[in-house]
Amino acid sequence: MKQLKIGILAYHGDVEEHLEAAKNAAKKLKQNIEVIPVRIKEDIINLAGLIIPGGESTTLYKLCQREGIFEQIKQVKNIFGTCAGAIMLAKTVDNKTPDQKTLELMDIEIDRNAYGRQNDSFETEIKTELGNIKAVFIRAPRIKSVGKNIKVLAKNQDEVIACEQRINGNYYLALCFHPELTTTIFHEYFIKKIAGTFNLILTLDS
Ligand code: GLN
Repeated sequence: MKQLKIGILAYHGDVEEHLEAAKNAAKKLKQNIEVIPVRIKEDIINLAGLIIPGGESTTLYKLCQREGIFEQIKQVKNIFGTCAGAIMLAKTVDNKTPDQKTLELMDIEIDRNAYGRQNDSFETEIKTELGNIKAVFIRAPRIKSVGKNIKVLAKNQDEVIACEQRINGNYYLALCFHPELTTTIFHEYFIKKIAGTFNLILTLDS
């Protein structure tokens, strides 16, 4: 069976936690998946999926530009963005800094700093399409609206906090919180979606 390779954008944010969560998710699914940190162009070659961790979206953009991988990331077929990573995926971003760009891959409008600064962080139980989890929000962005091709996977009260989009054979998953701190279910879900793209047969349904 072909070995899939998943990358974690590794400039800053919860890189270690995502590496662990992705490895554990692969183990739970009994999949032989290589999980690698991504920093330079060569790391992106042959990636089946990329995870963009939370952190700071302006900084993420600048570092991707500096390393010359910003445009190249768009060629990865499956991308999972959490928090600042979700901002990176959005087509429309409110409160961007003047020199900030995003990948503009998903039909969502997101407010970058909707919940204020660092101390405006909270933890709450949420019901998702994948099961109930504890979600940690850290200076979380707010998804203000979603396009008609977006599937919502979780809401907190009335607000969309997890959603996905399949478009032109590509797959994108965006979360406003930090799943890597509490659960692997979204990493497992992402792996299953990727495996679907590569027509691999998994032991679990996808
Ligand atoms: N609001 C932050 C930003 O602009 C994201 C916060 C986070 O990733 N925890 O990038």
